[in-house]
Amino acid sequence: MEKIRVGGILDNSLANGKGLRTVIFLSGCIHKCKGCHNKELQDFNFGIEMTEEEIFNRIEKNAGIIKGVTLSGGDPMEQPMKLVNLCKKIKTLGLNIWCYTGYSFEEILKSDEKSSLLKEVDVLVDGIFDLKSKSEKLKYRGSSNQRIIDVKESLTSKEVVVLDF
Ligand code: SF4
Repeated sequence: MEKIRVGGILDNSLANGKGLRTVIFLSGCIHKCKGCHNKELQDFNFGIEMTEEEIFNRIEKNAGIIKGVTLSGGDPMEQPMKLVNLCKKIKTLGLNIWCYTGYSFEEILKSDEKSSLLKEVDVLVDGIFDLKSKSEKLKYRGSSNQRIIDVKESLTSKEVVVLDF
């Protein structure tokens, strides 16, 4: 099994999605947004390599207190196939999955690999960070162009269903 490049893990966070969550920061991002909040994570070689099992064990330790897991970065959509099975296992713990990406929902649908990961995600926060649309008032996103998307509803209805926070 190919290893996953991880820039860091936050065991308990309230700022990266609804409820208390474990956040996995995946290394590597091509978007180069001005004002990027995690610039070192743009580097595909940043951080360490971890097995799916190592990451899952870390999550499992927190499973009693967290509501879900957030994939952030970097951009999780740069190593989608390595994350599909991990997401399936996370769901067996009764946890939901949020994913932050610089790609738009529509761009993800054009890629079979990225779509495979999308199907395992409950909530997608999509789009690049746009410094001009930045606002501290926004919850769970950095700039107003980004959308907090209900993935299951969107895939079923074939149009983007945005969640309001
Ligand atoms: S998508 Fe996120 S991690 Fe990537 S450059 Fe933009 S702000 Fe940084």
